[in-house]
Amino acid sequence: MPPLLAASSGAGPDLGTWLLLAALTTVGYLIHCVIWPYRACRKCHGVGKFLAPSGRAWRYCNRCTGRGAQLRTGRRIWTRIKNTHAHNRNNR
Ligand SMILES: [Zn+2]
Repeated sequence: MPPLLAASSGAGPDLGTWLLLAALTTVGYLIHCVIWPYRACRKCHGVGKFLAPSGRAWRYCNRCTGRGAQLRTGRRIWTRIKNTHAHNRNNR
């Protein structure tokens, strides 16, 4: 038996271990998004502007509108969850 098949069919981590790791990774990412909600813009690499093709003027980045930072996806999810919870709590 090839070593790769032997390793995959043997006593590896079970489903509960994988689910626990996935839950810990998700919670860690959400905590990361609460502490650091912004990431550098992927288009302008956090600069927020580009040098025009003529080389004589600066143009603001269209994606981040010149801020150089974008809200992380996890932070958007966190804000949506928080607002939904606050909305439900206020409408009791
Ligand atoms: Zn940008």
